[in-house]
Amino acid sequence: MTGKSSMQSSYEVSLDAACDRLGYTESTRRLLSLAALELKVEIPIVRDNGELAVFSGYRVQHQNVRGPCKGGLRYHPEVDIDEVRGLASLMTMKTALVDIPLGGGKGGICCNPRELSTRELEVLTRKFVKRIHREIGPNSDIMAPDVGTNAQVMGWIHSEYSAIYGHSPAAVTGKPLALGGSAGRDKATGHGIGIVIQAYSERYGTPLEGATVAIQGFGNVGVHAAKALTDLGMKVIAVSDARSAVYRREGVDISALSKQKSERGLLADVDGYQRLDPGKELEVECDYLVPAALGGVINDENAPRIKAKTIVEGANGPVTSEADKILRRREIDVVPDILANSGGVIVSYFEWVQNLQRQVWPLKQIDDELAQILGNAARQVFDHAAQKELDLRSAAFDISVRRVKEALDATGI
Ligand code: GLU
Repeated sequence: MTGKSSMQSSYEVSLDAACDRLGYTESTRRLLSLAALELKVEIPIVRDNGELAVFSGYRVQHQNVRGPCKGGLRYHPEVDIDEVRGLASLMTMKTALVDIPLGGGKGGICCNPRELSTRELEVLTRKFVKRIHREIGPNSDIMAPDVGTNAQVMGWIHSEYSAIYGHSPAAVTGKPLALGGSAGRDKATGHGIGIVIQAYSERYGTPLEGATVAIQGFGNVGVHAAKALTDLGMKVIAVSDARSAVYRREGVDISALSKQKSERGLLADVDGYQRLDPGKELEVECDYLVPAALGGVINDENAPRIKAKTIVEGANGPVTSEADKILRRREIDVVPDILANSGGVIVSYFEWVQNLQRQVWPLKQIDDELAQILGNAARQVFDHAAQKELDLRSAAFDISVRRVKEALDATGI
């Protein structure tokens, strides 16, 4: 595949470089590159048309030395073990970077959720939980939404898990509010991108007011990021979904586009907007580019054409390691995924804590604590990058890898 290093190999490039800088041994590197547990299950369901279909499901637990494994569950036709493995490793680094007491995991089912009915999705989800319930739970591995899943899917997981173990809301996060979900979880990742960009602008003296933004992806992350950045006075000039991309120099109307998307299912054909060929939203001239859809979208093929001054990784792994090198040479900053999109897992952590303590926190508390944790993490990354003259991904990996290694050392390994 042109310019697409796999999720796991990109992770290993960052891990290897961090281990070299920190002077860690080959065995430490090996321990951090391998997952502790990898599950693959085959899930048969009867489709609405009466036919039998079998889907492959995965759950990878990468590390739990700092706390139970934590990470999303993804429904997408390209899910495979390599991708889930790479994403699980990134979660270990993400939870370590923002210093919350959780480890890293990830799951996925190889399916196209758009082609499945609600009933089919529910049966698929419940059967997946029936297969893997022994390995997940509040103290071992806690799932959450990711690409192609949402609060409803988490509600089914909660219900299925609780049917086996008794009421256990802390076994999964990103649940509907009615089932013990947290205020602010829905918008957390997008909102967090706003917090990180604000910290970036304070540190590097780049003004927010009127700064232009292009966003790839109009799902949960993209829409909430667009709203948060508009609230900060920034101007979103391009947005896209899986099939179309639109552009307007004067700024797009996010609420009108969200309405159109929810009513008609796509962004295209809106009056007053210029249509772009899919993928071209990544190449518009702007101050900030936020890829908030899938991995590997900025690669060695299109990296030379990126015109943004700064890339903020809303998705996991949108910039390949080959593209990273090109962008570094071109002096385009990349704010890495493990920092930029960590708002989601931070509020998942708040949800888990609330559920364990049988508490309900108000939105203001969530917003304040999220801003504090994420703002601190961002400043630590910027400080370390400046001290060691590193790019931001390398600086973030140094901090995370060191924290995980310290925990491993403390266990006596
Ligand atoms: N799927 C999100 C991520 O990649 C959230 C994970 C979580 O909340 O556990 O960070």
